[in-house]
Amino acid sequence: MRKYLLIIPLLLFFVACAKNPYTNRSQLILISPAQEVQMGLQARNEILKKAKVSRDPRYNAMVKRVASRIAAVAEAEFHPNFQWEFYVLESPQVNAFCLPGGKIFVYTGLLKLVQNDDQLAAVIGHEVAHAILRHGSERVSMAMVGNLGKELLARGLQISGKSWGPLFDLAYGVGTQYGIIYPYSRKFEYEADQLGLYLMYKACYDPQEAIRFWERMRQANRQQIPEFLSTHPADINRIRALQRYIAQLRSIPRNCPLQRRVQ
Ligand SMILES: [Zn+2]
Repeated sequence: MRKYLLIIPLLLFFVACAKNPYTNRSQLILISPAQEVQMGLQARNEILKKAKVSRDPRYNAMVKRVASRIAAVAEAEFHPNFQWEFYVLESPQVNAFCLPGGKIFVYTGLLKLVQNDDQLAAVIGHEVAHAILRHGSERVSMAMVGNLGKELLARGLQISGKSWGPLFDLAYGVGTQYGIIYPYSRKFEYEADQLGLYLMYKACYDPQEAIRFWERMRQANRQQIPEFLSTHPADINRIRALQRYIAQLRSIPRNCPLQRRVQ
């Protein structure tokens, strides 16, 4: 009996572990891209039921302008086949996130802090990178495996179609909180920083503004901890990694028409 306890998680591992082509890292993901998009839609509907969508024309124009350029690069280079949507939420929270399927949310509290399009591109690039790299699903899958272990023990190792039900419920439950409550692990953050910088660079924004944005967040942090900073600690290691990633970008060609930065 006991040996099955080992075999089942291993089986899951081989079935679901795939190399992420962008990071070259193996990920355990038990949720298909289609399920993930469904979860993203459900989460979007939940959020829109509760949150207040901002009508501020300047903020809406800014998010649309920046997010559509980041989304265009993401589509052209990574083909996630998302149905992109951009929302500004009325809230003093300093936060932003991207649900699977390309639903981008930016809070007015964060928009008050960013000084230009490039800094907003740094935030949106980072959040879109989490979505492309499927970090949310990876986290849910890890929770599912943890839960599956408990479930199997409780049921004396009987696996029936039914036993998957509660796991998907769990996945959906967590899905509604994507990017809002749980911070990602450090590893995920570094991956999202690297790909996020690439996205903003290719979208013809200035990646140095990402550093300025993080410095600014640290200043804001002296008064209170903004939500975005509590889930994205901007310590010296992170800033150094950002600088390293920016240095790597310089050799990558990009085709940018002459453009003035919109303040
Ligand atoms: Zn992040």
